[in-house]
Amino acid sequence: MSKPLQAIRGMNDILPAAAPLWQHFEQIVRDWLAGYGYREIRMPIVEQTGLFSRAIGAVTDIVEKEMYTFTDHLNGESLTLRPEGTASCVRAVLEHNLLFGSPQRLFYTGPMFRHERPQKGRYRQFHQVGIESLGYAGPDMDAEHILMTARLWKQLGLNDIELQINTLGTSEDRARHRARLIHYLQAHQDQLDDDAKRRLHTNPLRILDSKNPALQAIIAAAPKLLDDLDEVSLKHFEALQALLRAAEVSFSINPRLVRGLDYYNFTVFEWVTDQLGSQGTVCAGGRYDGLVEQLGGKPAAACGFAMGVERLLALMEAQGIAPSPPVLDVYLVHVGEQADAVAMQVAEQLRDAGLGVVLHCGGGSFKSQMKKADASAARFAVILGEDEVKAGVVSLKSLRVQAEQVSVTVEEVAPLVRG
Ligand code: ATP
Ligand code: MG
Repeated sequence: MSKPLQAIRGMNDILPAAAPLWQHFEQIVRDWLAGYGYREIRMPIVEQTGLFSRAIGAVTDIVEKEMYTFTDHLNGESLTLRPEGTASCVRAVLEHNLLFGSPQRLFYTGPMFRHERPQKGRYRQFHQVGIESLGYAGPDMDAEHILMTARLWKQLGLNDIELQINTLGTSEDRARHRARLIHYLQAHQDQLDDDAKRRLHTNPLRILDSKNPALQAIIAAAPKLLDDLDEVSLKHFEALQALLRAAEVSFSINPRLVRGLDYYNFTVFEWVTDQLGSQGTVCAGGRYDGLVEQLGGKPAAACGFAMGVERLLALMEAQGIAPSPPVLDVYLVHVGEQADAVAMQVAEQLRDAGLGVVLHCGGGSFKSQMKKADASAARFAVILGEDEVKAGVVSLKSLRVQAEQVSVTVEEVAPLVRG
């Protein structure tokens, strides 16, 4: 016998035992999004590779080494499994002209793919809930995003997630800063690691995001972008902070906060917890006013964020948040030829009356069927034997509390089960 096949490393099955937590999370997220007037958009999982290199930036980690890219053998086109949702979302909005006349508040959910080293909280297929607000230039929208995430943590019952914010300024600010940064880093070139040397002229800002302990001292003393900001950038950043203070959302400014994607300007933020080891960022986002134009649209301001669903679920588990276990109304036991012949109809009748019913399948003795009923999530067994069929009734037995078994008609079952 050959070895059974396995899933691809870093790509997880979500098994039935884990599904209730996912569904619980998804339900809360859906209600939360509706409460802010965000509308769903669903994009394909595969896009032209060029979309991502153009949107995310050719020298970012994602585009340089994390994308699942392959050639479509029919036409030679280079395609990529989406590593994130923003690029696809903006592409779709432009393709369908959704920004014509009205700004958009949108959300999407689903799997993303990045070829990273799998570890706890870091997978090759992972899930995001993402939000994009297109056509909104003011800091009020940045604040809305942060406030709404704060509310979501509350609704999920999560504690100890801290907000860090920063501003990346305008592209002119960054160009000024970049020159200063390269100058500084060049002076310390002998102490840089290979990654940092490689990025020195392509993406020096990213060096500040390095996790290498040997670089932390150099990073700490590096020039700060905040000191290179012009008035417009500072005003946007200060207005955001004022809105957060008014809403009593606490935050800290992390001048080292940069994002792994090139398209950000002004606000960036992350929600971070120290309860998940080194993969502690559960939600990240910011403003990307240049992207719409960069992807061929008329200039339009935009901002958004994405949260990592696996990380949030891990945090819920760590904090003991569990959905109530699923319940089922009825397990239908049937023994004997005549009972077997009508069991499926009886089950349908009970479902017509609004009950959830698992019909026993696969035969077996009364005793073994009752064992299965007990082990199921059902509150009641409905029993159909030869005697019941003859008398035109069913037996109803509570599986969870001590109570007499009763003989009732099929019509009487639903009211009794509902209690
Ligand atoms: P990190 O610094 O952890 O690699 P990132 O900056 O690459 O994160 P984003 O692209 O901003 O992440 O994605 C938003 C969120 O999606 C992250 O904050 C995280 O919660 C989640 N996420 C990103 N990559 C992964 C992954 N490989 N596995 C699981 N979750 C992920
Ligand atoms: Mg990453």
